[in-house]
Amino acid sequence: MTLVDGNALAGDLAEVLGGDATSARLRCSGCGTTGLLAVTRVHRTAMGSVARCRGCDTVLVTVVDAGASLWVGMPGTRAVATA
Ligand SMILES: [Zn+2]
Repeated sequence: MTLVDGNALAGDLAEVLGGDATSARLRCSGCGTTGLLAVTRVHRTAMGSVARCRGCDTVLVTVVDAGASLWVGMPGTRAVATA
């Protein structure tokens, strides 16, 4: 597993959401903090990536590469705002 920041998800999320998703602001459902996706802590494995809140470690975004499809989940994200 590799630990990087949210900028590592730029390519994957641009494919699904379009544009530069790293500049999106996410509100954490765990602690209520709002911050840029770019500054989350991202754990990467061969199966995909998990972005966690820097404040409380809640899983904000998951990205799973299933071959033909890229699956994005936002289990701990209460809301998303553009820049
Ligand atoms: Zn949090």
